[in-house]
Amino acid sequence: MPHVIPPVKKVRWVNAVFFVVTTLIGVLGTPFYIARFGLSTAEILIFIFFMLATGLSITMGYHRLYAHASYRANPIIQFLYLFFGAAAFEQSALKWAAQHRIHHQYVDTDEDPYSIKKGFWYAHIGWLIFWKHHVDYSIVKDLQASRMASHQHKHYGLWSVTAGIGLPVLLGALTGHALGAFIICVCLRITLVYHTTFFINSVCHMFGKATYDIYASARDHWFVAFLTYGEGYHNFHHRFPSDYRNGVRWYQWDPSKWFIALLSHLGLVRDLKRVSQFQVLHARVAAENKRISDRLTRQLANQLRCQKTLEAFHLQYEQLRKSLVGWELAVKEYSQLLQDRVARQSQEVRAAAYARKEQARLHFKEIHSRWTSLIKLSPLALEQLFAY
Ligand SMILES: [Zn+2]
Ligand SMILES: [Zn+2]
Repeated sequence: MPHVIPPVKKVRWVNAVFFVVTTLIGVLGTPFYIARFGLSTAEILIFIFFMLATGLSITMGYHRLYAHASYRANPIIQFLYLFFGAAAFEQSALKWAAQHRIHHQYVDTDEDPYSIKKGFWYAHIGWLIFWKHHVDYSIVKDLQASRMASHQHKHYGLWSVTAGIGLPVLLGALTGHALGAFIICVCLRITLVYHTTFFINSVCHMFGKATYDIYASARDHWFVAFLTYGEGYHNFHHRFPSDYRNGVRWYQWDPSKWFIALLSHLGLVRDLKRVSQFQVLHARVAAENKRISDRLTRQLANQLRCQKTLEAFHLQYEQLRKSLVGWELAVKEYSQLLQDRVARQSQEVRAAAYARKEQARLHFKEIHSRWTSLIKLSPLALEQLFAY
């Protein structure tokens, strides 16, 4: 266990000045610059490139690779993450990952470096400007073993200024727009990437859906997911932090997961960790069960009828859970059979196991559709249904 010391109140002047200066130049300077000089294609392209490269290096690199080890990456990919991650000016990968691991381990307590319990503003940016944090690096020993990550940590200033200011301004100068590149591709871009990243700690711990864990402050927020390349599905992420996906459903906007999958197809990353669809389903229906049970307890006035409704509702949940376990077992049995050479060769055995798997799936689907209509009912309607 890391030795976590709660933060002490102390203005971090370097951070404060950096935030204020980049924000003022980026937000106020951009419209003045565009009104005076217009906007060239080169500036737009450099801006888009640095938005994507730095944002994705934070989500795919700092977060999903370094903080959670949800997959493994080859040295070239690691270098790109460290280089463009430094360009986001969000500290070294080691420090970022250490504080993020502590956030997961101590979420919503005093030890959580960006605890939402201390307020929206604190979790968003206040923790970085007005508080001094002690960072225990023993929580990132695995990352300290990487010479490249340790170098980035030790020489963070050099890495971040080269990647985050030097390179975009150089590209701007080569295309005749050094000033525009500094205002738009450095200052405005840093400000935008900052606040979208910070939304995860503030908005996603306060607003949105608790799909997989109703007692966690972390929430799934589709709009923040849209702004942060998929990181907004934060309730799922806190429930299953080592999964390389944050938006677990195929249609959920999570470009970080799509890029990681693409890199895996290209052989540049490997060992992608993912929880099974059954673990996800178990968590989802358990959360639905808890939500409705809490609502019934809170809203039904008659104790006896409330108890009766709760018991009947719980039976429905148990039936659903058992059908899910049955489906999971049938799938396991079928895939084990496919691995067994003798059984695999018998078409009859294979067809029977396949039929059992399909039957179990259909059985679950049927009970699940009944469950879905049940959980849409109000507590009073459920009482009418079960307690009279
Ligand atoms: Zn969180
Ligand atoms: Zn995380």
